[in-house]
Amino acid sequence: MSISPAQNRRDDPPPPDLHHLFHPDHLDSYVDTMRLGVDHLADTLRRLGGPATGVQPEQAAKPVADVDLDVPLGDPASALAEMSRVYLDDAIWFHDPAYAAHLNCPVVVPALLAEVFVSAVNSSLDTFDQSVGGTFVERHLIDWTNGRIGFGRGADGIFTSGGTQSNLQGLLLARDHALARTVHGDPSRLRILASADAHFSVQKAARLLGLGDEAVVAVPVGRDRRMSVDALAGALDDLTTYGLSPMAVVATAGTTDFGAIDPLGAIAALVRRHRTWLHVDAAYGGGLLVSPTRRHLLAGIEQADSVTVDYHKTWFQPVSASALLVRDGRHLGHVTWHADYLNPKDPEGIRHPNQVDKSLQTTRRFDALKLWMTLRTMGPDTIGGYVDTVVDLARRAYDALADDPAIERCAEPGLSTLVLRFRPEGMTEDAADRLQPRIRQTVYQRGTAMVAATKVDGRCWLKLTLLNPLATLDDVLAVTGSLGAVGRELMREAA
Ligand SMILES: *Cc1c(COP(=O)(O)O)cnc(C)c1O
Repeated sequence: MSISPAQNRRDDPPPPDLHHLFHPDHLDSYVDTMRLGVDHLADTLRRLGGPATGVQPEQAAKPVADVDLDVPLGDPASALAEMSRVYLDDAIWFHDPAYAAHLNCPVVVPALLAEVFVSAVNSSLDTFDQSVGGTFVERHLIDWTNGRIGFGRGADGIFTSGGTQSNLQGLLLARDHALARTVHGDPSRLRILASADAHFSVQKAARLLGLGDEAVVAVPVGRDRRMSVDALAGALDDLTTYGLSPMAVVATAGTTDFGAIDPLGAIAALVRRHRTWLHVDAAYGGGLLVSPTRRHLLAGIEQADSVTVDYHKTWFQPVSASALLVRDGRHLGHVTWHADYLNPKDPEGIRHPNQVDKSLQTTRRFDALKLWMTLRTMGPDTIGGYVDTVVDLARRAYDALADDPAIERCAEPGLSTLVLRFRPEGMTEDAADRLQPRIRQTVYQRGTAMVAATKVDGRCWLKLTLLNPLATLDDVLAVTGSLGAVGRELMREAA
């Protein structure tokens, strides 16, 4: 279409390139671009050599810094080629059986299919008038998860960006619940009891909630790395003695290092006696909700006041996908705020079902659609079967490693992690402490495997987190074998 001088007389600026916008008139370009992306990704995967290339921070920073963001490349193919150089070529691949570091899962394809719609339609789940059916898809998944937990009528919840946000919101509800019950609510007297192995997001939440670092009381764990119920009972009594109030007990269902599941039923009984709040952090162990054989490990979770579940860990969903579930949905009112421009308190006409009333976020991705497509394509048993597979694998690897005299195992796996170190006979603890980080770094640099590190009682250990149902026992033993081989090499170099 040519623009006549008459039409242009108001000196409109030249039209920008509008074809980049997702629009029915631009479908050819959309489809071509998406195909280009999918093909590029598939080609990348065909060429991969391992879970990592071992690139160091300085090397990874350089090509990124060299890009002049003011000078566009103009077409998606060139941008993809550059993206490979700055990112994809050295990415860490969680589907690789030699990736065994953090709680990252390989993702299922039905969720990737959902992502196409999540970002293109771009529904925002804050209000009904921005999401329509999306609101009810999310609510149905929340209700379904609550059913799996064993919550009764009146339960509710909300999708969040991750376990950190879910824990923050759970503890926010607990704080406001505690303060509402006392006449002169004094936040500085509130205490959160969590096992010494609880996730650091509990500490962070206490800080964000204005409770201070002192607010979190670390309850000792037993030899099995589960919270000691006797120690919890003692800690609760101590609070009373010192005039402090228990705001919440955080039980972890699957600790990040050991996969330990705190004794939920016994903890719930204590929490009831002290009339406080039970938050269960099942960010890691939440996948057991769909396990065909291990659901009983979460017995007692239905007595929680709030529960964190990370679908982006043991449900094989892409980041982000998490939820906070609450036994009594009315508690979510603590985060409700009405704004005339979004969710008015007294709307004219019908009252809309607005998810923003329950969320810490306003604009929010439709992450629920990923879980929806996963469940509708594969069903919960298949996801639960994946969980069983990785838990079994950890146990089999733990048993097999009993035969390796140079590998010391720290504790039996609660779920799918293995905490171990290379420590041949005669090596001192101090020497072992020095060696573990170097082994980890060398294995990463060679790109053959990736493991994590942690400290237990001040000592350095290595950690394998197994979340890949495609990994075999041989794959895991190849990783531990390379830890041993590198350890021996480093010892020889030092000698
Ligand atoms: C991973 C994890 C979290 C934090 O979840 P994010 O999704 O990473 O924010 C909280 N608690 C436990 C036990 C975890 O393993």
